[in-house]
Order: sequence, then C-alpha cells, then structure tokens
Amino acid sequence: MALFLPSTLSEACELLAAHNGDGESALVPIAGGTDLYTHWPQRPSEHERDYLDLSAIEELRGVVWRKDSLTLGALATYWELIQDRTCWSALPMLVQAARQIGAVQIQTRGTWAGNIANGSPAADGVPVLMAYDAVVELISTKEGKEEREEVALADFYLGYKQMRMRPDQLIRSIRLPRRPILFQRFEKVGSRSAQAITKVGVAIARSAAGWRVVANSVAPTVCRCRTVEALLEEKVPVRSPADLAAAVDQDIAPIDDIRSTARYRRQVLARLLYFALRESCPAFE
Ligand SMILES: Cc1cc2nc3c(=O)[nH]c(=O)nc-3n(C[C@H](O)[C@H](O)[C@H](O)COP(=O)(O)OP(=O)(O)OC[C@H]3O[C@@H](n4cnc5c(N)ncnc54)[C@H](O)[C@@H]3O)c2cc1C
Repeated sequence: MALFLPSTLSEACELLAAHNGDGESALVPIAGGTDLYTHWPQRPSEHERDYLDLSAIEELRGVVWRKDSLTLGALATYWELIQDRTCWSALPMLVQAARQIGAVQIQTRGTWAGNIANGSPAADGVPVLMAYDAVVELISTKEGKEEREEVALADFYLGYKQMRMRPDQLIRSIRLPRRPILFQRFEKVGSRSAQAITKVGVAIARSAAGWRVVANSVAPTVCRCRTVEALLEEKVPVRSPADLAAAVDQDIAPIDDIRSTARYRRQVLARLLYFALRESCPAFE
C-alpha cells in the first residue's frame, strides 16, 4: 500500500492524472476515512490499495458564506456546520442532517464531499444538499492544464455507486444557493434515534424554484421524487398518506434488506411526506 500526501490541489490532480488517467481507480482519494475504513482492520485485504490523502490541501478547506451562496470545501466536515450559527438560520436542514450522522467522532471527521462520493443510497447528507439544489465542482488536470466541471447534484448519480465523476477527478467544492426557503423538513427513520443507518429518509424544501422532495434508502441512489414534486406543484388535494402512494411508487424502487422491507419503506415514505406537508400545504387536509 502506498500513501501519497500532496500539499497542493494541483499536485493531487497531477497524481490522479498519472495513476487514474486511463479510467482505472488505482489511486483512491481519502478525506475523513470514515467510509473507506469502515471494515478495517477486520478485512485488511480490502484496504490493500494506494491512497491519495487530501488532508494537507488547504485549498480544499473552508465554509464560505456569500450573499447568495454557501460553498463547502471538499474537506468541510459535518461538525463545521453544526458549529456554524449562520447555517442554523440560513440552511437548517444541513445542521439537522449533520447532527444525525453517526456520533461526534464521525461528525468531526466525516466530510460532505465524502458522503457524496461514497455514493451510498443511504447517505444522509446527500438528500439535504440535493433538496437545496447543490452543485458539485469537479477538478482534474489534463496535459498540465486544470479542468473544472460543475454537475448539479440531482444529476450526479447514474446508478448504484455510479457517478458523473471520473477516477482522475476530485470533488473540489459543493455550492448551494442562498435564497428564501418557504418550507423545509428533514426526516430520518432508523432502528433507533441515534447512530442508525437510515431505513427511510427524506428532505423537503420549497423555494421560488419550486418543490424539492429527495429521499434516501428507497432506491439504488438518493433520488428526487419528481412525481411527488409535480403533485405538490399542482396542489392536488391529499387527504391521507394513501393519496400519495401512487406518486411515491413511481418515484422510488426500494428493496427488502436486513434493515427493512420494500413495503415498509413505501408506506413510511408516504406517511413522512403526508404528516410533514399537512402543516404547510393547503392541498393537504
Ligand atoms: C460509525 C459510523 C457511522 C456512520 N453514520 C452515518 C450516518 O448516520 N449517515 C451517513 O450518511 N453516513 C454515515 N457514515 C458514513 C460516513 O461517515 C459518511 O459518508 C462521511 O460523510 C464520509 O466522509 P469521509 O470524509 O470520511 O469519506 P472517506 O471515507 O474519506 O471517502 C468516502 C468516499 O469518497 C471518496 N472521496 C472523498 N473525498 C473525495 C473528494 N474530494 N473527491 C473525490 N472523491 C472523494 C473516497 O475515495 C471514498 O470513495 C457512518 C460511518 C461510520 C463509520
């Protein structure tokens, strides 16, 4: 196993171009290591890879608030937003999700970018970022020239653990628009109220850009529920969770696994949506 520790972003991109430029993931970026090292040391052979440790790259740090945006550097952790008073008022679902991710040890090491790049359908940071219309900034180097690309997080996932990110690209930052949010709600259902992997989760946001309903643990990827969003835009009367069932069914593709059944996930998502929206949505009775 080799460990590379670049101190600049351009050095990191050069290393990725040299090792991963042919489309192979020979060199694995590592940020907090909380996903990558979950099974270490029980399954050491899984970790016999070469790693690119990002932790010394100052350019990847920081949480920057501007008048109309928030930019999270790729090394920004959950803890940084939990401690950020502006976040509590401007984009509170980020704090709510962060506080329910693992415990303090994970919150202080785990990064928002790592949550995105790990590609888990159960990721709790991703639905909230997606509901706020986050954009992922990717960076790479080709023939000595820096290449930058932006991908809306809603378009980032192609399938289970499949992403619009090449092995020679790094997430440099995540940018969220700052705008008035008329309604927002984050719900996470697990087998207990802390330290639980999500069985069903949802982030809901309503702004001038429209409704965003994003669910996790109910499909091969975290997913926008566009049929439910359309139903909310059309103000179709909803009198019970059953009235949402058909729309929910169209949007998700849950499975039976050790944590719960597909039927449970469908029913619980419809109930979460109904009871969350009943408070604020005139079409709900
Ligand atoms: C005990 C425990 C509890 C947990 N609880 C939760 C939970 O409740 N909810 C939840 O969502 N997650 C949970 N996790 C998972 C994990 O903590 C999060 O997904 C975390 O955000 C991962 O970030 P990281 O910086 O540790 O990523 P790493 O482990 O360093 O990397 C994860 C993946 O992202 C890639 N990567 C990292 N940074 C970049 C970058 N800048 N560019 C490109 N690729 C990159 C890595 O190559 C790897 O594939 C838990 C993990 C543990 C061990």
